[in-house]
Amino acid sequence: MLCPVCNGIVNLQVPCLSCGGTVTDCGRLSDWTGPYAPYEPADAQTVNSASLLHTEAGCCHTVYCPSCQQTSEAMVTQWE
Ligand SMILES: [Zn+2]
Ligand SMILES: [Zn+2]
Repeated sequence: MLCPVCNGIVNLQVPCLSCGGTVTDCGRLSDWTGPYAPYEPADAQTVNSASLLHTEAGCCHTVYCPSCQQTSEAMVTQWE
């Protein structure tokens, strides 16, 4: 299984849930370990994120909407 977005094969194209505009791919959720991570390091959320990353449904990416100035999550379907 590979994520075509992580591998640069396709661009992540999902509309913003709030405004429907184009969001920017900020990479995999697991890459957010620095001080600019969108999540507070609360234990509950850490567990939740980890479980998301290990589902077979897809690769969980963090996306950012410059219009709303908000981050959200997008699941990318992985390829066989
Ligand atoms: Zn990915
Ligand atoms: Zn938006």
